[in-house]
Amino acid sequence: MFVVRTILFPQKIIYLWLKFYYMKKGKLIIFSAPSGSGKTTLVHYLLSRPELNLAFSISAASRQRRPNEIDGKDYYFITPEAFKEKITRGEFIEWEEVYKDNFYGTLRTEVERLLKAGKNVIFDIDVKGGLNIKKQFPDNSLAIFVQPPSVKELEKRLRTRQTETEEKIKMRLEKAHEEMKYAKDFDVILVNDDLEKAKDEAYNIVSKFINTPSS
Ligand code: 5GP
Repeated sequence: MFVVRTILFPQKIIYLWLKFYYMKKGKLIIFSAPSGSGKTTLVHYLLSRPELNLAFSISAASRQRRPNEIDGKDYYFITPEAFKEKITRGEFIEWEEVYKDNFYGTLRTEVERLLKAGKNVIFDIDVKGGLNIKKQFPDNSLAIFVQPPSVKELEKRLRTRQTETEEKIKMRLEKAHEEMKYAKDFDVILVNDDLEKAKDEAYNIVSKFINTPSS
């Protein structure tokens, strides 16, 4: 079966080889955490350090764009229908329905584009998606779980942010309880009770990983 398909589709072999080559080149840094734990702040901080040579993997998302967000920078905002079509066409490395009717996913083309440009790729994705990428690229990925000091503190942060309705805050807190259970499956747990300290720790962990050759 494999031989027949190889003869019929030699270009597929070239594509897979190229993909493998580029995937091996750069490092994948995955930040996952419950919403409101401060992971986005940490990711932005790391992106501001040019010596880490990081580029942000822009996910596709089917939720509404918030007023402060830019399409093509924060997310590729698409309709749920367009998202489902991309699932059918196998365009995602991973995707999750993170909240009911809100789909988020990592596009193959996005990660390939960044690795091809010689970058290390940084992801800000949910816990299941993060572990999924880790499983697919065990040799060149580092999965970091950002842990908020407590769910109470998380609730405070979500309310201060004022981006969500009461119903959505409840939904995010329920999910946070669930997500905390996965912390132990990550390579690193980074407790964010003091932002400046967490930034330094994140920098040291990522810098060390990037500067260690892949196995
Ligand atoms: P928000 O709506 O606050 O921007 O994001 C909600 C959650 O979806 C966050 O935990 C965020 O990290 C996660 N997320 C963003 N992009 C992706 C993605 O491509 N895949 C997965 N699995 N989760 C994502």
